[in-house]
Amino acid sequence: MQSKYLYHIIFLLSFSIFLLGCKHLPSGLTSRSHKNVLAIKNVNVITMISDSSILTNVTVIIKDGKIISLNATTIPDSAEIIDGKGKWLIPGLIDMHVHVPTDGHFNTTYPTHAAAIFTNTQDIMTPFVASGVTTIFELNAKAGHFGQRNEILRGDVVGPRMALAALINGGEESGRIANTPSDGSQIVRVAKAEGYEFIKVYSQLNTETYKAIVDEADKQGMKVIGHIPNVFQGKIEDAFVPHFGMVAHAEEFAKQSNDYSVGDAQRFAKLAKENGTWLAPTLTVIARIAEQTRTLDSITHLESFQYVHPLLQSKWLTANRNYQGTNSERVTRIEKMIKFNKLLTKVFKEAEIPIVAGTDAGSSGVIWGFSLHDELQLLVEAGLTPIEALTSATRLPAIWLGIDSKIGTIEVGKFADLVLLDSNPLEDIRNTRKIGGVFINGLWLDKVKIDTMLSDLSKRNALFKNKYDWKKREEY
Ligand SMILES: [Zn+2]
Repeated sequence: MQSKYLYHIIFLLSFSIFLLGCKHLPSGLTSRSHKNVLAIKNVNVITMISDSSILTNVTVIIKDGKIISLNATTIPDSAEIIDGKGKWLIPGLIDMHVHVPTDGHFNTTYPTHAAAIFTNTQDIMTPFVASGVTTIFELNAKAGHFGQRNEILRGDVVGPRMALAALINGGEESGRIANTPSDGSQIVRVAKAEGYEFIKVYSQLNTETYKAIVDEADKQGMKVIGHIPNVFQGKIEDAFVPHFGMVAHAEEFAKQSNDYSVGDAQRFAKLAKENGTWLAPTLTVIARIAEQTRTLDSITHLESFQYVHPLLQSKWLTANRNYQGTNSERVTRIEKMIKFNKLLTKVFKEAEIPIVAGTDAGSSGVIWGFSLHDELQLLVEAGLTPIEALTSATRLPAIWLGIDSKIGTIEVGKFADLVLLDSNPLEDIRNTRKIGGVFINGLWLDKVKIDTMLSDLSKRNALFKNKYDWKKREEY
């Protein structure tokens, strides 16, 4: 009973906050501007409204967290001025596939008192903010994520907007499990009542339960993203029912191909196209997995590894399922799959199926925020142009999430979720990593502030590095 009331309270607190920005800017950041008007002078703006919509050398005005002018001729006296000369402004980036640790994250394998180590929400969110990722889509959301979202909206934590999907699986494991259509529909209704906005379908669902979930989600106004359940092996067409909105990994298709042929990629594209199903290829996670089947140095060599919580650092290195028991067959199989994923991405692009950037951040070696820049690069390597890659991490995900009237492009009236880049990302997509500053819901974080946040986090993690051992976690 008690937890039921708790859900109601959480639901009321978080009601509608996903779509609304917060007017109250974080007070815990000493270097933030207390003026509520910002002027970015002489900046180049990649608006993302269309592929060719680029404004050069303009002055952008932000007031109360929103963009109020893109070509100002006068600057209000009260404005804090930011020099944009030679720089490039893009919309804040969106990662459409993340897993963010929360309190209780390891609730099935891990004692509650130790799970409290994740209480520092700022430490969890800093890597996103520092990377210009201003919206995330959590694909296995729990009650703890509502708490994190509220901390961000209250202004206690600087972090991204969070869209939350409730994951439903079949079989016997823990979590939201449904093995009958009536259970499936009921779980969707409960998730809706608890405040989740989306449903994620997972691998062990049976055919009828899967269909009932997708149906009920549509009735409840919830879009569906997910895996292609294993039961559809060899009959993938049956999984493409109306309102299956997005496939969460390219390898969900790869698993359905025997020969990794162009013909198969085209067959899958036709199914997705006819059904209106989008694709988040998540090329990053499989690239990291491939590296880890060879060596775990691939993790420790990542510059952003220092920003990972020490317990997860320990987990990724001592309980890594990609590395443990690896052999040359596994390496070859994954390499082949990677090749097919790239081909599939290109074929889907040519079929004009919307592709969005997602990374599966939170998987071993896939580090929150930083991974989005890896994904953009991999999407370009797969055949997207730089502007198409940027579209996949800005306008398109905002449309799928239903928040394109608020974010996703740079337009007057939209929330000021922006990234200021030192170099033009259309010339080289790797330039999205050259971040000169980030505007998150109108809060300006310059490079100095971002670097300070990151180095503080790194120091804190280093301090606890040897205190957390994944294998001894029951003892904490
Ligand atoms: Zn995932």
